[in-house]
Amino acid sequence: MSSVAAGSTPNEKDALFHPELLQKFDINGPRYTSYPSADRFHNQFGEADYLGALKRVAQANEPLSLYFHLPFCPNICYYCGCNKIITKDHGRSAKYIKYLAKEMAMVCAAMGAQKKIPVTQLHWGGGTPTFLSHEEMIELMHHTREHFDLLPGGEYSIEIDPRRVTEADIALLAELGFNRISLGVQDFNLEVQQAVHRVQTIEETRAVMDWSRRYGFKSRSVDLIYGLPKQTPETFKETVDVVLKMNPDRLSVYNYAHLPHIFKPQRRISEADLPGAADKLDILSNTIARLGQAGYVFIGMDHFAKPDDELAIAQKEGKLHRNFQGYSTQAECDLLAFGISSIGKVDDSYSQNVRTLDEYYAAIDDSHLPILRGLQLNKDDLLRRELIGELMCQFALNTEQFSRSHQIDFASYFKAEIEELKHLEDAGLLEWRGATIFVPIKGRLLARRVAMTFDRHLRESQAKGTYSKVL
Ligand code: SF4
Repeated sequence: MSSVAAGSTPNEKDALFHPELLQKFDINGPRYTSYPSADRFHNQFGEADYLGALKRVAQANEPLSLYFHLPFCPNICYYCGCNKIITKDHGRSAKYIKYLAKEMAMVCAAMGAQKKIPVTQLHWGGGTPTFLSHEEMIELMHHTREHFDLLPGGEYSIEIDPRRVTEADIALLAELGFNRISLGVQDFNLEVQQAVHRVQTIEETRAVMDWSRRYGFKSRSVDLIYGLPKQTPETFKETVDVVLKMNPDRLSVYNYAHLPHIFKPQRRISEADLPGAADKLDILSNTIARLGQAGYVFIGMDHFAKPDDELAIAQKEGKLHRNFQGYSTQAECDLLAFGISSIGKVDDSYSQNVRTLDEYYAAIDDSHLPILRGLQLNKDDLLRRELIGELMCQFALNTEQFSRSHQIDFASYFKAEIEELKHLEDAGLLEWRGATIFVPIKGRLLARRVAMTFDRHLRESQAKGTYSKVL
């Protein structure tokens, strides 16, 4: 089995992929797109709390980040774990856009905005954002720009389903201000595609990549999933090679988690077709080796990027951030989220909208913001959020600096955690370099495991036995 660090020469000591460590330490846990993770949100946090947070943020007058959840998809992919609505009725998205506009107006009114609020980051996620007609896309962006000023140089991104876009769509998205696209691919093997009910040709995908270059998009990201039914190490190698020929700037390689008791569409996947644990390890190992040979750098979690991509540069410069979209070069902004189930991060709080269209429309018709639940972070949460963010983005934490900036004594504040780190240290997942906790290349696929040691909420729930192991 080959073992190569992404972006470095083949060398066992520097290898990213260590199957024995994955088998031993890969346990179920948060992805830390937020800390505390969303499963800690509760419904005692409601609209009044959110309104308070919006007012505090308005006073800061800093540039913001925006997220729009566009949930409609014309067909179901069986592996899907997103909050989506399967429909072919485009009338449904026309109504939804109108309510997004109302929600934006309500939020901006609550912030007491006298002028357009500056924005450096915007993301349309889904669902399938390109389910919207051209008129709907124009309308949504028009309403966005009525309230917000999309600053030059920002990250304006959209998730694309290559099966459903035309050159005219990509041209329009560029005209609307989008400069980054993320393409869902998952796997190019036809048998795999049929088993997950998502048949997508290489040509369709390549065309979108070509158009995105033609219309000036700065960055192209491709999502793959390993562990899907009918996948083998050989078929996935072929997929990776085809994708590499398309020369994406970034690649995400996600592990498929088969949880049919939670995600109904997954019940249509036959468990007998899923690759076994050994095959999955092989697929991951081959993929990491292949991406390393092709010059991609491991960013963290499931993300890889070219060394000249801004994510890789930001990581080198210690300026990488993690948010609900994964990794980002934009400084930690407050995030306003719109649409069903979307999660915002405002002041020292997280808030999530209601999950269904009926609840969403009813709340807005009733002149209420559609908040379902959330969390007000306390001082300890804020401190741990910063710490976990450093470990996930920079693979290092200078504990002396951290102590100074938070006016704590790291050794006594995190006495129990430091003790617990010892077994990860013994296994080579982390090193103490002076006062710095450092995650060497060998431990980076498992950096989340190191971060989990500092997750107070997780420690408490583990004590209650509510978290389980994956392997
Ligand atoms: S994977 Fe994406 S395109 Fe497929 S059903 Fe889910 S949200 Fe829709």
